[in-house]
Amino acid sequence: MRGIDKAAPVRHITAAPMSLTDSPPRAHSFGHIETWIFDLDNTLYPSSCRLYVEVEQRMARYIMDELKLDLEGAHALRRRYFQEHGTTLRGLMNEYDVEPRHFLDYVHEIDVSAVQPAPALGRALAALPGRKLVFTNGTRIHAERVLDRLELSHHFAAIHDIVAIDFQPKPNAAGYRTLIETYAIEPRRAAMIEDMARNLPPAAALGMTTIWLRGGPHDEVEAHHAGAIHHTIDDLTEFLGALTPAGG
Ligand SMILES: [Mg+2]
Repeated sequence: MRGIDKAAPVRHITAAPMSLTDSPPRAHSFGHIETWIFDLDNTLYPSSCRLYVEVEQRMARYIMDELKLDLEGAHALRRRYFQEHGTTLRGLMNEYDVEPRHFLDYVHEIDVSAVQPAPALGRALAALPGRKLVFTNGTRIHAERVLDRLELSHHFAAIHDIVAIDFQPKPNAAGYRTLIETYAIEPRRAAMIEDMARNLPPAAALGMTTIWLRGGPHDEVEAHHAGAIHHTIDDLTEFLGALTPAGG
């Protein structure tokens, strides 16, 4: 059996997310993991650098220009699309037939200098056995720019981006299947780390071990997510470092 704490998820249902008191994940729960799948935004870099806020502002600006809405209307539409379609882009594609590459190029045209090198995370990744992949609802170019700033690019074997999943964003199950097929991943020997709890259920359904990095701007946990969150962490570097004696 995998080392998943079957008793823990119940607390996710009843408790407010910030008051969870999970015991720290134990290294032996992860010994079988061969492939580590990381979200990018607000996971590999901290939400405190507010890079993703800039992306969201450019999404709103795009909506203002294309749909002739004011700023408030644009942000309201962006939030509705995020809830109803998974991403702003998917909503714009479904409802306005927007050309995805144009939108993606526009929203990712941001200054990434707020992202700082992450040497401690780099050491933890280097010490962690297994293959590491990035799975993002953003573009490959955005991921490469951010990973370069973090000085973490060389740790990742591949970036599975929104183009690779045919613009069907997480948590759409199709993208997860494409991911495991493309990289011949054995889901029961894979772990996925995400700041958005709602992106973890499809991974858990495939048999992956899931790790939720809480504390970000989108850390709502709904009752139906709870059973799909196997581990909850507050700090990625600390978590990975604790899994290997040389890490951290
Ligand atoms: Mg994220």
